[in-house]
Amino acid sequence: MLNNSEYSNQKVLVLGLAKSGVSAAKLLHRLGALVTVNDKKKFDDNKDAQALLDEGVTVITGSHPVALLDEGFTLMVKNPGIPYSNPMVVRAQELGIPVITEPELAYSVSDSSWVGITGSNGKTTTTTLIGLMLNEREGAGRAFDAGNIGIPVSGVVQKAGKADTVVCELSSFMLVGIKTLHPHIAVLTNIYEAHLDWHGSRENYVKAKMRLTMNQTPEDYFIMNWDLPEMHTLAKQSKATIVPCSRKGAAGARATLTDGWLCFDGERIMKADEMQIPGAHNIENALAAIAAAKLSGTPNEAIVDVLRRFTGVKHRIQYVTSIDGRKVYNDSKATNVEASTVALSAFKKPIVLLAGGLDRHLSMADLLPLVKQHVRAMVTFGETAPLMEQLATQAGIPFTRTANVKTAVPLAFEASQPGDVILLSPAAASWDQYPNFEVRGDEFIAAVTSYAEKKE
Ligand code: ADP
Repeated sequence: MLNNSEYSNQKVLVLGLAKSGVSAAKLLHRLGALVTVNDKKKFDDNKDAQALLDEGVTVITGSHPVALLDEGFTLMVKNPGIPYSNPMVVRAQELGIPVITEPELAYSVSDSSWVGITGSNGKTTTTTLIGLMLNEREGAGRAFDAGNIGIPVSGVVQKAGKADTVVCELSSFMLVGIKTLHPHIAVLTNIYEAHLDWHGSRENYVKAKMRLTMNQTPEDYFIMNWDLPEMHTLAKQSKATIVPCSRKGAAGARATLTDGWLCFDGERIMKADEMQIPGAHNIENALAAIAAAKLSGTPNEAIVDVLRRFTGVKHRIQYVTSIDGRKVYNDSKATNVEASTVALSAFKKPIVLLAGGLDRHLSMADLLPLVKQHVRAMVTFGETAPLMEQLATQAGIPFTRTANVKTAVPLAFEASQPGDVILLSPAAASWDQYPNFEVRGDEFIAAVTSYAEKKE
């Protein structure tokens, strides 16, 4: 890969830093390109820009000066979040400078086979499962998780060789900026939300997702969720071999849930209830991962082993531990009502729900049927505590208000009974009390651990 001369002495502008911009700039610099990075954040507060300057990269910070584009660049690598209406991007396109995103750059110098995963929900879970499963193969190369999962793929392709597989989570924003990226196996988990603000229309959002398959051929595979009727129409746009998955018995599906078993091509692999990760949505994620793993030659035992031990991606309905017959789950990533709806639907056992956070003045009403059905009691905190308490009152269940996630933990145990699920699924962002949802989830895990220790 490092012999790649395509970028040698090319003038490349990396627009927008963050993790992926830094990684792209470093890769290009290493390949001998003449790299300029442009980031809005002022130099004094911009650690990434400072570090790149030390490495010999040209750094322009504090603004996006459009005149910079007249300096003869041959390529722009754009941060996926920056819209195409940004004046820098508009100017680049006027000048005919190709505009790509970081995964396209990484792909162009990669020797490995690629699995690409996209969809509205379940990307990180499915990507992680596929990575774990492929790494269980004997005699095959390694699988590297990368992309939107939080590991810039420009760094990964420098480690991954010919025999290895890059398992890359791709957001719709990333996919808009690909040109040659060609995964041997592509996965489209589902299409729900639309990021309408960025893409302009649902049609554009779907188009962006479908770019994942645009370079595929019949030798490649496109794994799709056959329970969503829209997928049947979209499949016709792909040249790849379609591999349908169905949890609900859709005709023609290859990865299926049949009589409680996860199956591939009619063969029973394991019982779905042996998986650690709960809920119908995780069965869908597992089916997509099974399809990718089977098509990559992973033995059934390896697949079963992964699905039995995988406790979920951190902060996403993540199984934490069991204490006194209560199973504890951390779903701090549930920063809105939709995500908490998924979590509450995932359990059949009574739930003690820990919820509350930043008030965006949105209705919580969609949670009411699930709260009525599944929730035994609530512990509330943060700005939306009163809204959650209204739900509890409407559902006729008890609630306790407390200061934060940490103080909520012992109260949740007090309100629960053996056999219950204790679930942090706040249905709100964390910013009223925490820097981000990760810190909130970590505080929860620490409080649960400390509760367990005190009991011993
Ligand atoms: P993404 O990477 O697409 O954001 P994750 O795997 O991180 O998805 O899961 C985030 C949340 O999305 C989960 O906690 C759950 O609430 C929901 N989710 C996950 N998988 C699915 C699915 N297949 N269908 C619907 N919702 C899902």
